[in-house]
Amino acid sequence: MDMTKIFTFLPVPTTIHFGIGSRFKTAEKVKEFGAKRVLIITDPGVVGAGLMVDVEKSLKGAGIEAVTYDKIVPNSGLSLVNEAVKLMKESKAEVVVGVGGGSSLDTAKAVAVMAGNPGEFGDYEGMHKIKNPGLPVIALPTTSGTGSEVTIFSVITDDKKHLKTVAGSSYLCPKVAICDPELTLSVPPAVTASTGMDALAHALESFTNLNTQPISDCLTSKGIELIGEWLRPAVAKGDNLEARYWMLLGSLLAALGFSSTRLGLAHAFAMPLGSAPCNLAHGVANAIMLPAVMEFNLMGNIPKFVQVAKAMGECVDGLSAIDAAYQAVEAIRRLSEDIGIPKSLKEVGIKEEWFEGIAEESMKSGNIAVNPRKPVVEDMIEICRRAF
Ligand code: NAD
Repeated sequence: MDMTKIFTFLPVPTTIHFGIGSRFKTAEKVKEFGAKRVLIITDPGVVGAGLMVDVEKSLKGAGIEAVTYDKIVPNSGLSLVNEAVKLMKESKAEVVVGVGGGSSLDTAKAVAVMAGNPGEFGDYEGMHKIKNPGLPVIALPTTSGTGSEVTIFSVITDDKKHLKTVAGSSYLCPKVAICDPELTLSVPPAVTASTGMDALAHALESFTNLNTQPISDCLTSKGIELIGEWLRPAVAKGDNLEARYWMLLGSLLAALGFSSTRLGLAHAFAMPLGSAPCNLAHGVANAIMLPAVMEFNLMGNIPKFVQVAKAMGECVDGLSAIDAAYQAVEAIRRLSEDIGIPKSLKEVGIKEEWFEGIAEESMKSGNIAVNPRKPVVEDMIEICRRAF
């Protein structure tokens, strides 16, 4: 570690309530804002899994009027944000409650901020463009993946350009996160696997990138350990509450860490891979790219990759530093294989002729600048070939 470097740890302005049954606190938290009317943003999968029942009961019991917008889809787009903003204004909501995975939470954050800002959400793409606060957001994550419940980011698809876009602003950060592991018990195995690999990629990319620093490292190294230990059991047996508990905590720690450091190339690739014509689920994109990205990055920070191998439970005794660092890649490959992540870009229908476009688009990501090894477009194309 470079002790001459000044590092910055950004405080997260979110009050976190973590624990089994914490969802029953939703009404109490709404009331703390002095609010009587809320807009709930969620998706049909979450409603179908019965996750809204307790939340709605808690709100009704406290005399809080709730209007629900439940049309969110994976990689949710601007048109749904606009529709929900209209509903927020018509219903005179005073708080926005997001219940779901990253797609629902990112939409809830985008909608809420439009209560205080003109134009449409697409006008605020990029970092720190949002000038005013919006309505407070209470976020209840139902996947252990994105950590959106505590981040300043909202990832929304531009429906006209068919591209995923990111806005980052402290005004997008939820005021309250209610992290109840019981809300994640119903996540199907494939979604548990892909969202878990997204969380692992957050922890790993933050831990090894150029902005890595002692405070975020405490969070992300623990995140790697927890996810390395508990992702397999969570996929194998969805109703394993202990596995769900540690996975939700692992994804939360990873997000608290990467909020100060940003990420790396796997996440840079995930933006075009989550856009047309690829349209991969965010976690799947990250999981497929991660081993090839790690092989490229390894020489940029060998000691940190050795620590990743150890945190993933690998025995590196007697190995040279470089061999020990390669064990980290093997550990990720084996985990992905065990939990049924598709093996390659080819397997999920990506075409070789798209590589150039994917590479060029991924080079626009803010995560490129912090990656442990500086890539050029040709490197990005080669990484795609290795992941093919
Ligand atoms: P998601 O929100 O798209 O949900 C995936 C699927 O899982 C949906 O069909 C949903 O209905 C279902 N689901 C969710 N919870 C469930 C539950 N408990 N039981 C049954 N089904 C359930 O998936 P995600 O991976 O959580 O979110 C991905 C989005 O988040 C992407 O757009 C990605 O770019 C974004 N993201 C945001 C941040 C951030 O900091 N804001 C970070 C990483 C990713």
